[in-house]
Amino acid sequence: MERSRVSGPFRIVESSLRQCEEFIGLGQVDCGIPRDACVTTVELNAPLIVVIEDEIAILRFLNASLSIEGYRVKEAENARDGLLLLLQESPAAVLLDLGLPDREGRELITELRGWSRVPIIVLSARDQEREKVAALDAGADEFLSKPFHVGELLARLRAILRRSDGIGAGGESHAQARCRRTSIC
Ligand code: CA
Repeated sequence: MERSRVSGPFRIVESSLRQCEEFIGLGQVDCGIPRDACVTTVELNAPLIVVIEDEIAILRFLNASLSIEGYRVKEAENARDGLLLLLQESPAAVLLDLGLPDREGRELITELRGWSRVPIIVLSARDQEREKVAALDAGADEFLSKPFHVGELLARLRAILRRSDGIGAGGESHAQARCRRTSIC
């Protein structure tokens, strides 16, 4: 492979997965791209996950877990800030707590479904069947009861992103997401 095919970070963002993997195949050594420029540029195209959760410890844990997996994360600690975030951003998915300080999470789902198809995963300590049914009927895509295993959450998130044809509301393909996770130059 000629080096010129992967001579700059923007090439990675625009590239297909195959090209991206060819790039990775260079072995992360002497690829000719300044490390900071490459990582920063590719990170801009990672899927954005909005987390709406009022328990700070869980919020931080989710942020760290998602970031390690290569997702971008934006946080809101209440329904109002969450809605503002969702109006401003185009996330690939939303993780939503039902018990928020200013509003019921289920109301938020209903409102959101009036203008958005963004995948929603509910994370809640309310594990009664009627709560799950109500959240799913309101428009949630998944329901995970707290405490949950982060591995299962990540798997369900990947499944949801696959079902949404690999293109989140932010327009990023899984090829780019995979590239983001694996390419460090
Ligand atoms: Ca809560």
